[in-house]
Amino acid sequence: MIQNRYNKLKESLLKKYGFPVYKIPVDAGFTCPNRDGHLGWGGCIFCEETGSGFAIQNRGESIEKQVLKGIGRMKRRYPDAKFFVYFQNFTNTYAPPEVLDSKYREALCHPDVIGVDISTRPDCVPEEVLDVVEALSKQTHVTLEYGMQTANYRTLMKLNRGHTLGEFIDAVIRTKKRNLEVVAHIILNLPWDDRIDVIETAKILNALCVNGVKIHSLYIPKVSVMAGMYERGEIKICSLEEYINRVITFLEYLSPDIVIHRLVAEGPRNGCIFNNWGLLKIQVINAIDRELKSRDTWQGKQFRFRTAHFPRISGFL
Ligand code: SF4
Repeated sequence: MIQNRYNKLKESLLKKYGFPVYKIPVDAGFTCPNRDGHLGWGGCIFCEETGSGFAIQNRGESIEKQVLKGIGRMKRRYPDAKFFVYFQNFTNTYAPPEVLDSKYREALCHPDVIGVDISTRPDCVPEEVLDVVEALSKQTHVTLEYGMQTANYRTLMKLNRGHTLGEFIDAVIRTKKRNLEVVAHIILNLPWDDRIDVIETAKILNALCVNGVKIHSLYIPKVSVMAGMYERGEIKICSLEEYINRVITFLEYLSPDIVIHRLVAEGPRNGCIFNNWGLLKIQVINAIDRELKSRDTWQGKQFRFRTAHFPRISGFL
Protein backbone atom coordinates (compact mmCIF):
# COMPACT_ATOMS: atom_id res chain seq x y z
CA MET A 1 0.00 0.00 0.00
CA ILE A 2 1.63 3.28 -1.11
CA GLN A 3 1.37 5.96 1.58
CA ASN A 4 2.71 8.96 -0.31
CA ARG A 5 1.94 9.07 -3.99
CA TYR A 6 3.76 12.34 -4.43
CA ASN A 7 6.61 14.14 -2.70
CA LYS A 8 4.76 16.57 -0.40
CA LEU A 9 6.39 19.76 0.88
CA LYS A 10 5.07 19.42 4.42
CA GLU A 11 6.61 15.99 4.86
CA SER A 12 9.82 16.91 3.10
CA LEU A 13 10.34 19.88 5.46
CA LEU A 14 9.49 17.81 8.52
CA LYS A 15 12.02 15.18 7.43
CA LYS A 16 14.69 17.80 6.80
CA TYR A 17 14.23 19.92 9.95
CA GLY A 18 12.47 17.67 12.46
CA PHE A 19 9.80 20.33 13.21
CA PRO A 20 6.95 21.86 11.20
CA VAL A 21 7.78 24.78 8.92
CA TYR A 22 5.19 27.26 7.64
CA LYS A 23 5.34 30.25 5.33
CA ILE A 24 4.63 33.83 6.39
CA PRO A 25 3.67 35.84 3.28
CA VAL A 26 4.82 39.45 3.14
CA ASP A 27 4.30 42.30 0.71
CA ALA A 28 7.57 44.18 0.26
CA GLY A 29 5.99 46.96 -1.78
CA PHE A 30 7.53 45.99 -5.13
CA THR A 31 5.86 46.34 -8.50
CA CYS A 32 6.34 44.37 -11.73
CA PRO A 33 8.28 45.27 -14.90
CA ASN A 34 5.50 43.68 -16.93
CA ARG A 35 3.05 46.22 -15.52
CA ASP A 36 5.01 49.45 -15.26
CA GLY A 37 6.19 49.59 -18.87
CA HIS A 38 9.78 48.50 -18.29
CA LEU A 39 9.08 45.18 -20.05
CA GLY A 40 5.41 45.57 -20.84
CA TRP A 41 2.13 47.15 -19.83
CA GLY A 42 -0.91 45.68 -18.14
CA GLY A 43 0.78 42.51 -16.91
CA CYS A 44 -0.03 38.87 -17.55
CA ILE A 45 -3.62 38.46 -18.69
CA PHE A 46 -4.52 36.39 -15.60
CA CYS A 47 -2.95 38.79 -13.10
CA GLU A 48 -5.06 41.00 -10.87
CA GLU A 49 -4.07 44.34 -9.45
CA THR A 50 -2.42 42.93 -6.31
CA GLY A 51 0.20 41.20 -8.47
CA SER A 52 -0.91 37.61 -7.91
CA GLY A 53 -0.97 38.07 -4.16
CA PHE A 54 -4.68 38.16 -3.35
CA ALA A 55 -4.10 36.92 0.18
CA ILE A 56 -2.09 39.94 1.23
CA GLN A 57 -3.48 43.19 2.53
CA ASN A 58 -0.42 44.62 4.25
CA ARG A 59 0.98 46.91 1.56
CA GLY A 60 2.76 49.80 3.23
CA GLU A 61 3.53 47.96 6.49
CA SER A 62 7.18 47.27 7.29
CA ILE A 63 8.40 43.75 6.58
CA GLU A 64 9.35 43.35 10.24
CA LYS A 65 5.81 44.22 11.35
CA GLN A 66 4.29 41.78 8.85
CA VAL A 67 6.63 39.00 9.94
CA LEU A 68 6.01 39.53 13.66
CA LYS A 69 2.24 39.68 13.12
CA GLY A 70 2.34 36.53 10.99
CA ILE A 71 4.44 34.61 13.50
CA GLY A 72 2.18 35.70 16.39
CA ARG A 73 -0.85 34.38 14.48
CA MET A 74 0.74 31.09 13.47
CA LYS A 75 2.29 30.37 16.87
CA ARG A 76 -1.15 30.27 18.47
CA ARG A 77 -1.99 27.26 16.27
CA TYR A 78 1.46 25.73 15.81
CA PRO A 79 3.59 26.52 18.88
CA ASP A 80 6.52 24.32 17.71
CA ALA A 81 6.65 25.70 14.18
CA LYS A 82 9.40 27.73 12.54
CA PHE A 83 9.02 29.88 9.46
CA PHE A 84 10.07 30.83 5.96
CA VAL A 85 9.23 34.43 5.06
CA TYR A 86 7.59 34.40 1.63
CA PHE A 87 8.04 37.45 -0.59
CA GLN A 88 4.94 36.83 -2.67
CA ASN A 89 3.37 39.84 -4.41
CA PHE A 90 4.60 41.18 -7.73
CA THR A 91 8.28 40.76 -8.70
CA ASN A 92 10.42 40.44 -5.60
CA THR A 93 13.77 40.96 -7.30
CA TYR A 94 12.70 44.16 -9.08
CA ALA A 95 14.72 46.81 -7.20
CA PRO A 96 18.36 47.87 -6.87
CA PRO A 97 20.51 45.18 -5.19
CA GLU A 98 21.07 47.22 -2.00
CA VAL A 99 17.29 47.69 -1.55
CA LEU A 100 16.71 43.97 -2.05
CA ASP A 101 19.46 43.09 0.40
CA SER A 102 17.98 45.30 3.09
CA LYS A 103 14.40 44.00 2.58
CA TYR A 104 15.44 40.34 2.60
CA ARG A 105 17.53 40.82 5.76
CA GLU A 106 14.70 42.65 7.51
CA ALA A 107 12.74 39.39 7.19
CA LEU A 108 15.24 37.69 9.51
CA CYS A 109 13.98 39.76 12.44
CA HIS A 110 12.77 36.85 14.59
CA PRO A 111 14.76 33.81 15.77
CA ASP A 112 12.07 31.46 14.45
CA VAL A 113 12.57 32.64 10.87
CA ILE A 114 14.77 29.97 9.29
CA GLY A 115 14.52 30.94 5.64
CA VAL A 116 13.36 33.28 2.92
CA ASP A 117 11.35 32.39 -0.23
CA ILE A 118 11.58 34.93 -3.02
CA SER A 119 9.00 34.77 -5.79
CA THR A 120 9.90 36.49 -9.06
CA ARG A 121 9.98 36.49 -12.85
CA PRO A 122 12.73 34.46 -14.54
CA ASP A 123 13.78 37.46 -16.63
CA CYS A 124 14.36 39.60 -13.54
CA VAL A 125 17.38 37.95 -11.92
CA PRO A 126 20.54 39.58 -13.26
CA GLU A 127 23.85 38.41 -11.80
CA GLU A 128 24.03 41.31 -9.30
CA VAL A 129 20.68 40.19 -7.85
CA LEU A 130 21.89 36.60 -7.62
CA ASP A 131 25.01 37.93 -5.82
CA VAL A 132 22.72 39.38 -3.13
CA VAL A 133 20.69 36.18 -2.86
CA GLU A 134 23.77 33.97 -2.76
CA ALA A 135 25.30 36.07 0.05
CA LEU A 136 22.02 35.79 1.99
CA SER A 137 22.05 32.01 1.51
CA LYS A 138 25.25 31.81 3.59
CA GLN A 139 23.17 33.07 6.52
CA THR A 140 19.76 31.44 6.06
CA HIS A 141 17.90 29.04 3.81
CA VAL A 142 16.91 30.75 0.54
CA THR A 143 14.59 29.60 -2.24
CA LEU A 144 13.98 31.41 -5.51
CA GLU A 145 10.55 30.81 -7.00
CA TYR A 146 10.27 31.42 -10.75
CA GLY A 147 7.08 31.69 -12.77
CA MET A 148 7.42 29.28 -15.69
CA GLN A 149 3.67 28.60 -16.19
CA THR A 150 4.11 26.28 -19.20
CA ALA A 151 6.72 24.91 -21.60
CA ASN A 152 4.57 26.10 -24.52
CA TYR A 153 6.10 29.40 -25.58
CA ARG A 154 3.15 30.26 -27.83
CA THR A 155 0.90 30.06 -24.77
CA LEU A 156 3.37 32.23 -22.84
CA MET A 157 3.07 34.87 -25.58
CA LYS A 158 -0.74 34.73 -25.45
CA LEU A 159 -0.54 35.20 -21.67
CA ASN A 160 1.49 38.38 -22.24
CA ARG A 161 4.16 37.06 -19.87
CA GLY A 162 6.84 39.21 -21.51
CA HIS A 163 9.26 36.25 -21.42
CA THR A 164 9.29 32.82 -23.01
CA LEU A 165 10.79 29.45 -22.11
CA GLY A 166 14.35 30.55 -22.89
CA GLU A 167 14.43 33.09 -20.06
CA PHE A 168 13.14 30.50 -17.60
CA ILE A 169 15.81 27.97 -18.59
CA ASP A 170 18.52 30.65 -18.40
CA ALA A 171 17.43 31.78 -14.91
CA VAL A 172 17.30 28.24 -13.53
CA ILE A 173 20.72 27.30 -14.92
CA ARG A 174 22.36 30.46 -13.51
CA THR A 175 20.63 30.01 -10.14
CA LYS A 176 21.49 26.31 -9.80
CA LYS A 177 25.14 27.05 -10.66
CA ARG A 178 25.23 28.97 -7.37
CA ASN A 179 23.71 26.04 -5.45
CA LEU A 180 20.54 28.00 -4.74
CA GLU A 181 17.22 26.22 -4.45
CA VAL A 182 14.69 26.74 -7.27
CA VAL A 183 10.93 26.23 -7.27
CA ALA A 184 8.98 26.55 -10.54
CA HIS A 185 5.38 27.77 -10.72
CA ILE A 186 3.26 26.15 -13.41
CA ILE A 187 -0.41 26.29 -14.43
CA LEU A 188 -1.92 23.06 -15.72
CA ASN A 189 -5.29 24.23 -17.06
CA LEU A 190 -4.20 27.02 -19.37
CA PRO A 191 -6.72 27.38 -22.22
CA TRP A 192 -4.25 26.79 -25.07
CA ASP A 193 -2.36 23.87 -23.54
CA ASP A 194 -2.96 20.14 -23.75
CA ARG A 195 -1.50 16.90 -22.37
CA ILE A 196 1.61 17.13 -24.58
CA ASP A 197 2.47 20.54 -23.06
CA VAL A 198 2.00 19.10 -19.59
CA ILE A 199 4.42 16.23 -20.29
CA GLU A 200 6.99 18.54 -21.88
CA THR A 201 6.78 20.91 -18.90
CA ALA A 202 7.54 18.01 -16.54
CA LYS A 203 10.47 16.86 -18.72
CA ILE A 204 12.03 20.32 -18.81
CA LEU A 205 11.77 20.64 -15.02
CA ASN A 206 13.42 17.21 -14.68
CA ALA A 207 16.22 18.20 -17.04
CA LEU A 208 16.86 21.40 -15.09
CA CYS A 209 16.82 19.53 -11.73
CA VAL A 210 14.59 22.10 -10.06
CA ASN A 211 14.07 21.43 -6.36
CA GLY A 212 10.35 22.02 -6.21
CA VAL A 213 7.24 22.81 -8.20
CA LYS A 214 4.09 24.73 -7.33
CA ILE A 215 1.17 23.53 -9.45
CA HIS A 216 -1.58 26.10 -9.96
CA SER A 217 -5.10 25.66 -11.24
CA LEU A 218 -5.86 28.78 -13.23
CA TYR A 219 -8.48 31.03 -11.66
CA ILE A 220 -9.77 34.14 -13.38
CA PRO A 221 -9.93 37.32 -11.29
CA LYS A 222 -12.84 39.67 -12.09
CA VAL A 223 -10.34 42.47 -12.68
CA SER A 224 -8.10 40.90 -15.32
CA VAL A 225 -7.78 40.87 -19.10
CA MET A 226 -8.63 37.19 -19.09
CA ALA A 227 -12.01 37.87 -17.45
CA GLY A 228 -13.15 39.74 -20.57
CA MET A 229 -11.91 36.95 -22.86
CA TYR A 230 -13.74 34.35 -20.74
CA GLU A 231 -16.99 36.31 -20.73
CA ARG A 232 -16.84 36.86 -24.50
CA GLY A 233 -16.32 33.10 -24.99
CA GLU A 234 -12.87 33.58 -26.52
CA ILE A 235 -11.29 31.07 -24.15
CA LYS A 236 -12.48 27.89 -22.47
CA ILE A 237 -11.15 26.28 -19.31
CA CYS A 238 -10.92 22.50 -19.33
CA SER A 239 -13.19 20.39 -17.11
CA LEU A 240 -12.26 19.34 -13.59
CA GLU A 241 -11.82 15.75 -14.85
CA GLU A 242 -9.33 17.00 -17.46
CA TYR A 243 -7.48 19.04 -14.81
CA ILE A 244 -7.17 15.95 -12.61
CA ASN A 245 -5.88 13.98 -15.64
CA ARG A 246 -3.31 16.67 -16.36
CA VAL A 247 -2.09 16.84 -12.75
CA ILE A 248 -1.71 13.07 -12.64
CA THR A 249 0.08 12.98 -16.00
CA PHE A 250 2.39 15.77 -14.87
CA LEU A 251 3.21 13.93 -11.61
CA GLU A 252 3.83 10.66 -13.45
CA TYR A 253 6.43 12.27 -15.71
CA LEU A 254 8.05 14.32 -12.95
CA SER A 255 11.17 13.13 -11.11
CA PRO A 256 10.25 11.72 -7.69
CA ASP A 257 13.01 13.93 -6.21
CA ILE A 258 11.15 17.16 -6.99
CA VAL A 259 9.10 18.41 -4.04
CA ILE A 260 5.46 19.31 -4.72
CA HIS A 261 4.71 22.60 -2.96
CA ARG A 262 1.12 22.81 -4.14
CA LEU A 263 -1.37 20.85 -6.30
CA VAL A 264 -4.11 23.43 -6.69
CA ALA A 265 -4.34 27.24 -6.36
CA GLU A 266 -7.32 29.23 -5.12
CA GLY A 267 -8.52 32.77 -5.71
CA PRO A 268 -10.81 34.60 -3.29
CA ARG A 269 -14.43 33.41 -3.49
CA ASN A 270 -15.88 36.81 -4.35
CA GLY A 271 -13.00 38.09 -6.48
CA CYS A 272 -13.09 35.64 -9.40
CA ILE A 273 -15.36 34.73 -12.27
CA PHE A 274 -13.80 31.27 -12.49
CA ASN A 275 -12.33 29.51 -9.46
CA ASN A 276 -11.75 25.76 -9.16
CA TRP A 277 -14.98 24.72 -10.88
CA GLY A 278 -16.96 26.12 -7.93
CA LEU A 279 -15.25 23.76 -5.48
CA LEU A 280 -13.04 24.39 -2.48
CA LYS A 281 -9.33 23.82 -3.00
CA ILE A 282 -9.35 20.90 -0.56
CA GLN A 283 -12.12 19.19 -2.56
CA VAL A 284 -10.00 19.34 -5.72
CA ILE A 285 -6.95 18.03 -3.82
CA ASN A 286 -9.02 15.17 -2.40
CA ALA A 287 -10.33 14.32 -5.88
CA ILE A 288 -6.74 14.15 -7.20
CA ASP A 289 -5.67 11.97 -4.26
CA ARG A 290 -8.61 9.61 -4.85
CA GLU A 291 -7.79 9.31 -8.55
CA LEU A 292 -4.09 8.64 -7.90
CA LYS A 293 -5.14 5.81 -5.62
CA SER A 294 -7.78 4.39 -7.94
CA ARG A 295 -5.31 4.34 -10.87
CA ASP A 296 -2.58 3.02 -8.56
CA THR A 297 -0.14 5.58 -9.90
CA TRP A 298 2.44 7.96 -8.39
CA GLN A 299 4.94 10.76 -9.00
CA GLY A 300 7.74 9.51 -11.24
CA LYS A 301 5.96 6.42 -12.61
CA GLN A 302 6.83 7.55 -16.16
CA PHE A 303 10.09 9.32 -15.25
CA ARG A 304 12.87 8.00 -17.50
CA PHE A 305 15.66 10.59 -17.54
CA ARG A 306 18.09 8.82 -15.24
CA THR A 307 17.22 5.30 -16.37
CA ALA A 308 17.07 3.63 -19.80
CA HIS A 309 15.12 5.73 -22.30
CA PHE A 310 14.22 2.75 -24.49
CA PRO A 311 12.71 -0.63 -23.73
CA ARG A 312 15.31 -3.36 -23.65
CA ILE A 313 14.89 -5.74 -26.60
CA SER A 314 16.60 -9.09 -26.12
CA GLY A 315 19.61 -9.54 -28.45
CA PHE A 316 19.49 -5.91 -29.62
CA LEU A 317 20.56 -3.71 -26.71
S1 SF4 B 1 4.79 38.65 -13.65
FE1 SF4 B 1 3.52 38.27 -11.83
S2 SF4 B 1 3.08 40.30 -10.94
FE2 SF4 B 1 3.86 40.61 -13.03
S3 SF4 B 1 2.03 40.79 -14.28
FE3 SF4 B 1 2.68 38.64 -14.37
S4 SF4 B 1 1.59 37.58 -12.70
FE4 SF4 B 1 1.41 39.81 -12.35
